[in-house]
Amino acid sequence: MNKHFGQLHVLRDIDLAVGRGEVVVVIGPSGSGKSTLCRAINRLETVESGSILIEGRPLPAEGKGLARLRAEVGMVFQSFNLFAHKTVLQNVTLAPVKVRKRGKAAAEATGRQLLERVGLAAHADKYPAQLSGGQQQRVAIARALAMDPKALLFDEPTSALDPEMINEVLEVMRALAAEGMTMVVVTHEMGFARSAANRVVFMADGRIVEDRAPEEFFADPRSERARDFLSKIL
Ligand code: ADP
Ligand code: MG
Repeated sequence: MNKHFGQLHVLRDIDLAVGRGEVVVVIGPSGSGKSTLCRAINRLETVESGSILIEGRPLPAEGKGLARLRAEVGMVFQSFNLFAHKTVLQNVTLAPVKVRKRGKAAAEATGRQLLERVGLAAHADKYPAQLSGGQQQRVAIARALAMDPKALLFDEPTSALDPEMINEVLEVMRALAAEGMTMVVVTHEMGFARSAANRVVFMADGRIVEDRAPEEFFADPRSERARDFLSKIL
């Protein structure tokens, strides 16, 4: 897959296949194209060519298949992007009711279960501003789960959080990974990459430079770029 922004070649010959239940952690220096890759997977960015397979299926470019893709691939961003004027529960039930045409009562019952799962059952009727950053990000995860996604994309989900809140979000993500959710996670949390990832994809300058099991990658990064990157962050 390739992608340009004007003259800038941001994604270069990217080939990525994510299997069912796989957890792929994407790391790399700032500006290497990680967010663009996430957005391309969800087709929030157009791409010029190429292949990304999620659970064996190529991504549709347009039409009905695209709408289905967006409904089936949930996305969690660095900035939680919750609806400020909706309660926590409303944030979680809005899309299932509007997009999936679920009944309100059924959506609320599922929504409360999901809030329970991310440890926020007691906060269902609060507004996002009344929650900490870590709690808001867990609501964002519950909201993504409410659409019953086949896969979840996370773009630096803990980068905007105070350090003491990072773990509560990673714990929820670890539990999802253990339950077999297919996940693509852009993160600088190397502990999460080591413990939860099946594969680490290292990107630099718009290319996938390494795509390996975490224990191999961290023990013996092959590329100069990866060694340099790891020496700066570890
Ligand atoms: P990362 O997430 O790895 O930090 P990004 O995918 O955000 O990298 O960005 C990759 C490159 O593309 C950067 O050089 C960035 O400045 C550029 N870029 C990102 N989005 C746009 C855009 N909408 N228009 C022009 N350039 C962009
Ligand atoms: Mg980014």
